[in-house]
Amino acid sequence: MKRSLTLVSIIGMSIILFAGKLPDPPEKKPAMPQAAFKWQTEQFGDSRILRYKVPGFDELSLNQKKMIYYLSQAALCGRDITYDQNCKYNLLVRKTLESVVMQYTGDKNAPEYLKLMTYLKEVWFNNGIHHYYSSDKLIPEFSKEYLSGLLKSTGKKNLPLDKDQTLSQFITEITRIIFDPSIAPKRVCLENGKDLILNSSCNFYDGVTQKEAEDFYYKLKEKDKKEGNDTLIAYGLNSKLVKENGVVTEKKWKTDGMYAPALIHVIYWLNMAASVSESKEQKESIYKLINYYRTGDLGLWDEYNILWVKDINSKVDFVNGFIEVYGDPLAKKAGWESVVNFKDEEATKRTEILSRNALYFEEHSPVDPRFKKKDVKGITAKVITVAQLGGECHPTTPIGINLPNAQWIRKEYGSKSVTMDNITYAYDQSSLGNGFLEEFAASPQEIENAKKYSYIAGNLNTDLHECLGHGSGQMLPGVTAESLKNYHSTIEEARADLFALYNVMDPKLKEVGLVTSPAVATTEYDSFIRNGLFTQLVRVKPGKTIEEAHMRDRSLIAHWVYEKGKDANVIEKFSRDGKTYFRINNYTALRDLFGQLLREIQRITSEGDYTAAKNLVETYGVQVDADLHKEVLERYKKLNIAPYAGFINPVFEPVMKGETLTDVRVTYPSDFTKQMLEYSSKYSFLSPR
Ligand code: ZN
Repeated sequence: MKRSLTLVSIIGMSIILFAGKLPDPPEKKPAMPQAAFKWQTEQFGDSRILRYKVPGFDELSLNQKKMIYYLSQAALCGRDITYDQNCKYNLLVRKTLESVVMQYTGDKNAPEYLKLMTYLKEVWFNNGIHHYYSSDKLIPEFSKEYLSGLLKSTGKKNLPLDKDQTLSQFITEITRIIFDPSIAPKRVCLENGKDLILNSSCNFYDGVTQKEAEDFYYKLKEKDKKEGNDTLIAYGLNSKLVKENGVVTEKKWKTDGMYAPALIHVIYWLNMAASVSESKEQKESIYKLINYYRTGDLGLWDEYNILWVKDINSKVDFVNGFIEVYGDPLAKKAGWESVVNFKDEEATKRTEILSRNALYFEEHSPVDPRFKKKDVKGITAKVITVAQLGGECHPTTPIGINLPNAQWIRKEYGSKSVTMDNITYAYDQSSLGNGFLEEFAASPQEIENAKKYSYIAGNLNTDLHECLGHGSGQMLPGVTAESLKNYHSTIEEARADLFALYNVMDPKLKEVGLVTSPAVATTEYDSFIRNGLFTQLVRVKPGKTIEEAHMRDRSLIAHWVYEKGKDANVIEKFSRDGKTYFRINNYTALRDLFGQLLREIQRITSEGDYTAAKNLVETYGVQVDADLHKEVLERYKKLNIAPYAGFINPVFEPVMKGETLTDVRVTYPSDFTKQMLEYSSKYSFLSPR
């Protein structure tokens, strides 16, 4: 599971205080040359491009540096997989436009050309022709005629034509894909009553209906049960489900199957990494992963995850695989991703304190004792420094990850939870003084608190969400994550958010030294409510409803507590100078409401109560108040801040003496277009057809 930034924390933060203000001050950070480093490089459409630094890299041992270099190559080699998974047209569109840009000799400041560049940057930013967050199709601002003129001058030999296709047939094909709103309109359809597969343009299914897919996986489970072998394997995780000659069958993603050309390169670099791994356990886990990529055997994937969870001592660590299922409306197929990182020892002390006290929080949580874990096992929480992002995690990235996703492994072996501190830090630095907080906060006090405490409050909440929230609670026997179907992701994220919100006010945090002021919790409440009730709407297009799971979760929580606390005026909606604001009048009562909702959401999860999940999400999570939405968009527009942010990766380069690698150097490029074109020339292993 991933945790992404709330909008408030992306763009609403301001000053970060270090000396003495934080319970666990990240002392190293001020050492970054802040003035010289450009955090944001450009802005286009609704997106901003940021950079992140990798503090501490130079102090790593040579083997650790090598490992990061090899793993960063592995992370980049899977890039095309993400494009192809998101939609079958993505590689075709990307490669076509890249060719156009490479061959272009005209005026690079011509208005139509700039529009084409914006669209191509958006395709790179979103790993395809759909918005990564809303999953709506991107709309180009240049004309069809302009594109077809460029395609003609680019020339047949430079374009990915199908065999026997003429240039004019190709132009017709590509302009339809890009411009026709009825072709691939939505990447992930979660609309009730519709066939979720037939109405989604992600590339996880071909020729099968939702019913056929559900039946296919149901039968696999049943077969296991009949054979007395009730496996916990996540069927479908690493394959595309297709119909061939009338038979529904899986095309597995493995080195002798689909995505082989990319996976072979990933494996090459994983082998290199294994040669410099820090421990026997780590080496074993890497070989297991390689074996899984070779065979596609999901049993090996589980074995790999168990080894990976157990490897807690290695300084360098990584995620590499088909991991998250948000991109599949049925939540079975996983997108490919990679995050290469190393442990931030200082900041990790913070999460270790939480982990040590996990049982306390589980025991004191307001949920029904039947749904509580009796002992909380092996939650490994650490703060990491990200060195490289790949696949689904790049250019846009989560700020926290909690893996593995398999519930039974989490229960028996625990999970690893990470907070990506240097990413959060980059967000914060880049949003200094952008005016967002000043526009939407209810009072000067709120603004002041946010400036002082939001960095620590945000980090603490991420830690609570990742290392305690997702790891808390248990299912009743026989209930699986699949019971909640398309509502699973939203409910699961709400569960983790509520666990964090409820506990951020627990006196225990003060006792163990993680919180120095009550304002830490109230600051988090202010920002959560502000975001969930209205400011996150800046990410929703006019007339649309809320689609993305994390946004639904935040809307659900905020609207539920707002409504339930209305009689007691817990949260007050008011107007000043014609603008709407929300103010929390009673933080203790609000905490109690968070507790009540956590209790219900845990019940829904543990019992697999689909109907209740549906009711909650549809009532509180999806709908948008049209007037408020309009107002928010207008106020936001004036600030001229792009709501989405993605990153340019650092580059790791080997320093060679003859045949010997003697050091690895890190540099921070600042040109997004250049990086994307470089990636496309170096790491493009899949055919667009
Ligand atoms: Zn989460």
